[in-house]
Amino acid sequence: MGRPPPPEGHNRPHTPGTPTLRPAAAPRGPGEHESRTGGQRGRVEFSLPSPISPSRPKSPWGRYDPYDATEDQDKEYVGFATLPNQVHRKSVKKGFDFTLMVAGESGLGKSTLVNSLFLTDLYKDRKLLNAEERITQTVEITKHTVDIEEKGVKLKLTIVDTPGFGDAVNNTECWKSVADYIDQQFEQYFRDESGLNRKNIQDNRVHCCLYFISPFGHGLRPLDVEFMKALHEKVNIVPVLAKADTLTPLEVKKKKIKIREEIEQYGIKIYQFPDCDSDEDEEFKQQDQELKDSIPFAVIGSNTVVEAKGKRVRGRLYPWGIVEVENPAHCDFVKLRNMLVRTHMQDLKDVTRETHYENYRAHCIQSMTRMVVKERNRNKLTRESGTDFPIPTAPGVSDSETEKLIREKDEEVRQPPHTQTQEQECVTQECVDQECVMHDECVQESVQEECVMQEESVQEAEHCAELC
Ligand code: GDP
Repeated sequence: MGRPPPPEGHNRPHTPGTPTLRPAAAPRGPGEHESRTGGQRGRVEFSLPSPISPSRPKSPWGRYDPYDATEDQDKEYVGFATLPNQVHRKSVKKGFDFTLMVAGESGLGKSTLVNSLFLTDLYKDRKLLNAEERITQTVEITKHTVDIEEKGVKLKLTIVDTPGFGDAVNNTECWKSVADYIDQQFEQYFRDESGLNRKNIQDNRVHCCLYFISPFGHGLRPLDVEFMKALHEKVNIVPVLAKADTLTPLEVKKKKIKIREEIEQYGIKIYQFPDCDSDEDEEFKQQDQELKDSIPFAVIGSNTVVEAKGKRVRGRLYPWGIVEVENPAHCDFVKLRNMLVRTHMQDLKDVTRETHYENYRAHCIQSMTRMVVKERNRNKLTRESGTDFPIPTAPGVSDSETEKLIREKDEEVRQPPHTQTQEQECVTQECVDQECVMHDECVQESVQEECVMQEESVQEAEHCAELC
């Protein structure tokens, strides 16, 4: 596949060893499983004898503690090899979330595919517009959230749909509302992160956008190019060739090559699968290459179960036969689902956080800094107090609540250091850490000084709030 060059600031900080095509994590011990699903740690039973070395504490992980291997029994024990297990338990307890956007002309099978992917019925109440209503239709953004659970692992899945995209007579800049939506989610996250209550931030950032390409055209249409170019630096775009059952296998192959060439030709930066580690085995490398060569994934959707060769399968029944959604010989549905759910979900989230959101954040900090400098220059002349610097406030927190939080923070700051409790110290340390990160981000020479000015502005605002 002709791979587009990585975008500016897009040299992926991909963690070495990030799993790509590996199957889901091997099931853990029965004791741990019980604890994960039931959330009752107290009931976990350990079937193995306790460690023999007196210097080794009793392993809470049963035989899954790496130090419980027989060859390690006599070695000195510290215990940090269990760190991955601790992380695993913590994240399973917390649950996961993932936000998937589907975009493309209406009628290309987006809703059907989403329902087939997650075995849900997300579009029960969908109202389809008639041709007249669609003439002037603007792009809407709708959001559906479902909580799914599999083997004790909870996933909050949000599907963002873009009904009306490409439907109107004039589709100029119809991608704009989609781009605005993505930016709004970044902005919300940025505000929450910079606010006072950072504990329970709800992350609505879009982690992946499945872009549906029509099987009936000759490659990409101008609207497809416009859309992908407008969004490729904001979201991970994964192109899919819709309704692949309307094409012969040869047509699918040719269309894929054409689309890949056009993606490269127009400089569109779609989601890049992380590179395989060089020490991976050949089979794994081959699977990885196959996945990369499948772009755009040729998909078929169906929510009907039909009988094929004595088996009940999800498929589409035609007078001449059955197309099976989950048959790799018929389409790339399974590859796409595995990529999205089993192998690359975390990478999609990492790229969203480390690349797309970071770009947004850096841009925001730069413009805020510029505003503060301007404001200071103006105030230098008048020496008037007060500032219009837009301090992000936590959404859903009323003014009085904000004031209360500010007062609490003031109290904390006023306390002499020796009377601070451990928790308070953590909060203070957390603030210091956050500020350090922000300082690191300030790449221009003058930014450190400007950050200090931001603090002054915040203090002034707090002072005002107190007076009020
Ligand atoms: P959306 O408007 O993009 O959400 O499209 P829908 O999911 O509502 O599908 C529009 C129509 O296309 C429906 O009649 C579906 O049954 C049909 N459809 C959905 N997926 C496929 C597919 O993979 N192949 C074919 N041939 N038809 C499909």
